Amino acid sequence: MNIKQSPPFWNEDIQICLHGSEDSNAYFGSVNPPVILSSLFTYPTFSKLVEAMQDLSCNPVYSRGTNPTVQFLELKLAALERGELCKCFGSGMGAISACLFSLLQSGDHIVFVNNIYGPVINLLQYMKKNNISFSYITEEYSIEIVKAHIQDNTKMIYFESPATMSFNMIHIKELCDYARSKNIITLCDNTYATPLFQKPILLGCDIVAHSLTKYIGGHSDIIAGAIITTKQLFTKIFYEAYLPLGSVLSPLQASLCIRSLRTLPFRLKRHEESAIKIVTTLKEHSKINNIGHPIFMKQFHELGELYSSTGLFSINIDTNNIIVINQFLDNLQFFQKGVSWGGFESLAISPHNNDFIPNNIHKLPLGIIRLSVGLEDVNMLIDDISKSLDMI
Ligand SMILES: *Cc1c(COP(=O)(O)O)cnc(C)c1O
Repeated sequence: MNIKQSPPFWNEDIQICLHGSEDSNAYFGSVNPPVILSSLFTYPTFSKLVEAMQDLSCNPVYSRGTNPTVQFLELKLAALERGELCKCFGSGMGAISACLFSLLQSGDHIVFVNNIYGPVINLLQYMKKNNISFSYITEEYSIEIVKAHIQDNTKMIYFESPATMSFNMIHIKELCDYARSKNIITLCDNTYATPLFQKPILLGCDIVAHSLTKYIGGHSDIIAGAIITTKQLFTKIFYEAYLPLGSVLSPLQASLCIRSLRTLPFRLKRHEESAIKIVTTLKEHSKINNIGHPIFMKQFHELGELYSSTGLFSINIDTNNIIVINQFLDNLQFFQKGVSWGGFESLAISPHNNDFIPNNIHKLPLGIIRLSVGLEDVNMLIDDISKSLDMI
């Protein structure tokens, strides 16, 4: 892969990240949009208020519905994904649960493709109470395997590509074309790639969900989420889940997110270059028997739907001993031990510590370690991993 080459839409996307949806002239020439800390918005007459209340999803009436600062961010994200409308939420899980709660009904079936974000599985406990069943496909993607799991009552196909633990990829266009022919809604969690490196809506996907907490936030200081979708699905999700469930993004957090978007393209390039340098250095290491990084997955070259990789990948250490895994993690000096990813700081974690996820539903090997490469000097990080491997 030639990482010097820019992804398609790169220059347009940089422009959206820097200036999209903003209008300095409307607020004293300020280069940053105002942070509007107000829970409610008043109107000069009652009839004007009533008129605004006709659509709470775009008119500022009450900030659990629409807040102008949050709207600046929503317009930027919708533009980046090339989607119709965006709604921001108080977290990625807030965004995802709103989609599932509003679009699935008793008796429906949902198919999960690829290793999906663990806590989404926990959400299924609520789904079961509402008589919603699911299938979970963790095998390497093929459309035939997906078709074999489709039932008459399948309402939604939910996927991540690449998956943020196994890094398996799927053929998004093929999957979405098939789903559309069956009237099944597709939802893609695009947190790994961000809209800069993959645009699922252009590949036929109905809903894109994001945890803005990761690369888009990028500084490990906000929790936020978003969905981008068509007007029709947006309206249903907004009125049936966003408003009643109330997972709201505060204008302060939205302004931090707008700040972060300005550097997203440049941070992503740095994460990508460092991660590629690390995997190319480590790939022949005798203690590593597999690397889960998009550029090493055959689907990456076959599908070409992901424009570039980011700083998140996994290595599989050749061991069946959890103590060795713990030693490896503890030996690392510059990769801090912590959950989450996508920030400026490098992180390392093993997925085999999570009692919340039933019966290792992800079916991941014991030796797998997920690394989130931060913005530090890459040679220092390579040294850190090499030394830590030498010690086990
Ligand atoms: C973190 C994450 C989420 C959940 O986002 P929160 O902002 O933590 O609620 C969803 N999907 C993926 C892939 C994630 O990494």
